[in-house]
Amino acid sequence: MNWFQKHNDDAAAAAVVGCIILFLVVLLTGCGGGGSADPTRTTWTEQEVAQVYLETQACVGLTAPAPVVSFEPFDGPFGLFSAPDRVFINTSPVWDIMTRTDEDQALRHEFIHHLLFSVIGVHDHSSPLFQICT
Ligand SMILES: [Zn+2]
Repeated sequence: MNWFQKHNDDAAAAAVVGCIILFLVVLLTGCGGGGSADPTRTTWTEQEVAQVYLETQACVGLTAPAPVVSFEPFDGPFGLFSAPDRVFINTSPVWDIMTRTDEDQALRHEFIHHLLFSVIGVHDHSSPLFQICT
């Protein structure tokens, strides 16, 4: 067995151990009636997100083409608006305390940023719409 062969065998063994550990973690967290506050929180459909956007537009009284919405983990707050048209909802484990209602509010908050940016170009938190429409 040459070095390369040995190295690859070690890597394969490490990968197998890693998969077993991952499997156990999934098994442990997947049992017991839900470890996080709301295990269904990341299962938004496009239609549900679109509905929240329609409701937010109606509340704010502004319209603009919908942003691209991503549910993904990242280092940062519960949600982010990236001008001109990207909204991110944070699915990082540190935000596992978020319920679906929290995510709904996060979506509305980031949609308000998007609508304000798109229509008037200013989207800081001084607007009362952040309180009124989330
Ligand atoms: Zn904000």
